[in-house]
Amino acid sequence: MTDPIELIRRQVSDLHQQLVRYDLVVWTAGNVSGRVPGEDLFVIKPSGVPYEELTPEKMILCDLDGNVVAGDYSPSSDTAAHAYVYRHMPEVGGVVHTHSTYACAWAARGEAVPCVLTAMADEFGAEIPVGPFALIGDDSIGRGIVETLRGHRSPAVLMKSHGVFTIGKDAEAAVKAAVMCEDVARTVHISRQLGEPLPIAQADIDSLNFRYRNVYGQQPAAR
Ligand SMILES: [Zn+2]
Repeated sequence: MTDPIELIRRQVSDLHQQLVRYDLVVWTAGNVSGRVPGEDLFVIKPSGVPYEELTPEKMILCDLDGNVVAGDYSPSSDTAAHAYVYRHMPEVGGVVHTHSTYACAWAARGEAVPCVLTAMADEFGAEIPVGPFALIGDDSIGRGIVETLRGHRSPAVLMKSHGVFTIGKDAEAAVKAAVMCEDVARTVHISRQLGEPLPIAQADIDSLNFRYRNVYGQQPAAR
């Protein structure tokens, strides 16, 4: 049996390379965290360590108040926001933050990405909403994420004038949402250059989202 904490350390460490692979981060910006199943603990990236130097051992184990339980480095400067989300959304098992370019361009205008592509209806089930402007240093970023995403289908929020936060059932799902968020923010931006993208009827968004959540993909028995 592998220790669940070690498992999440490895998963969170590995997933950071996906942020690099999909061009969602520069320098040391961005972070992934993952909840340790069944424990009031989560694992997050250390602050200021280059992506190519991240290893499972360098990940930081925190409690749900954002206090360091184990780790040689200081945790990501966004740790309080991640902790707030885990405290207030028990169904969330992973959180990701990026300053990915196209999504940030929408955040800089404080404009939600409208749901105008079937891929968006699938993954987001709605527009990608904008959260409030919030300064780092207290609970205001975490509160803004939770208040915007609670009861919303979208697993991604564009925090105004800042960047993207995504949530998922685990860290991998949150990374996927961050990748898809940048992809659709880019496509809808490009579409806008020559006109106004066409809306998709709400009933069609609903049915696409339902199918994606319930039918699409491999069934567990077929894996
Ligand atoms: Zn940030």
